[in-house]
Amino acid sequence: MKTPIPDYLNEVLDSLRADTSGNTAQYIPELAQANPDLFALSVTTATGSTYSAGDHLTEFSIQSISKPFAYAAAIMDRGLERVLQSVGVEASGEAFNELSLEDGTHRPKNPMINAGAITTHGLLVSQTASAESRVSRVLELFSHLAGRELRIDEKVYASEIQTADHNLATAHMLRSYGIIDADAHEVVSGYTRQCSILVTVEDLSLMSATLANGGIQPRTRERVLTEDVARQVMSVMAVAGMYDGAGDWLTRVGIPAKSGVAGGLVGVLPDQVGIGAFSPRLDAHGNSQRSGRVFERLSTDMGLHLFAPSSGQLDVVDVRQEATHEVFTLQGNVQFMAAAELLDLMAASTSRTAVLLDISRVYSFTSVARRMALEGLRRLRLDSRRVILNDPLQVLANPDLGDGSYPESPADEHHEV
Ligand code: GLN
Repeated sequence: MKTPIPDYLNEVLDSLRADTSGNTAQYIPELAQANPDLFALSVTTATGSTYSAGDHLTEFSIQSISKPFAYAAAIMDRGLERVLQSVGVEASGEAFNELSLEDGTHRPKNPMINAGAITTHGLLVSQTASAESRVSRVLELFSHLAGRELRIDEKVYASEIQTADHNLATAHMLRSYGIIDADAHEVVSGYTRQCSILVTVEDLSLMSATLANGGIQPRTRERVLTEDVARQVMSVMAVAGMYDGAGDWLTRVGIPAKSGVAGGLVGVLPDQVGIGAFSPRLDAHGNSQRSGRVFERLSTDMGLHLFAPSSGQLDVVDVRQEATHEVFTLQGNVQFMAAAELLDLMAASTSRTAVLLDISRVYSFTSVARRMALEGLRRLRLDSRRVILNDPLQVLANPDLGDGSYPESPADEHHEV
């Protein structure tokens, strides 16, 4: 059999082809001339399966979609605290090329608007980094995220830099406020090269699937970003990725996303998927018109809204009293909520028998859920109850109860009999 997912993705594109509203980006000559009919979509799961449709092999310049990934690089290079000194994390509610500086500090409101992204580019590598090393840094990181060697489209760069007065003015303002140290022209030139990196929708879906997967590239298995950095980047995308349309987008579509003026759109759902779409005609906010509609359909059809309550029961917590044991059972992927429920059941127990925690059908524990479960066992033992852990798959790995002691295993118990 053939998986129906690519057929479904093709069907989504076909249903939206007739929408020819909007126009290619007019302020960058090379982008203004793009073929407006190109249309592509790619979805990569956090486990690394990619499904694509339409012109998925066509390369286009990444433009503002570079911003969240360059932000990741800056945090890794300089530390989050240093980056936050120069760029905020608040929604600007304004267009992508507005200055949008915070009162008092003059920090750009977030790294997704141009002012914030230009500042972020200037932070790359180190305080004394050369202009070339900042560009190589993003090119290399993006290549690791995509899992292939990416390159810069010098024609797009040359075209944009000739008309970059607005971004140059922005950089000069930022420098006058002491927000960027480096030469304004050098920073804008590097930022414009960063925007001219060529990608396909598949590259975008892999880059964002790496975020969805907590920083591990799902195909190469390389850890490209730390979990904390991936979380920070996805959060900022949710807050400000769609500029002045961010609130409308998050409520209606619910997929943290970032658009680019070449027509690309990238979206991410933590633990699930990375999505890349491409269609060069833009709406009034400068976001790709049809790519936005593709995301709307995926969100509705596949239940991909970030805040859609998941209907399937992810974990099961249960307790029953048997002749010699009180058995607590956990099942599924155990997170904070299930662990809290387990602790409530343990706290309510009035039995004096031995305790058996059965986690033979648990796939995973988050680290906090793991600590909570072990603390529950420790406290039951302090109440003078024997505690036994049935963990044949060793999902708890090293079940130290926090005081250097371990629960008994069912096998130990068997030997005693
Ligand atoms: N390079 C473009 C600019 O700075 C990126 C803008 C965008 O994609 N929204 O104007």
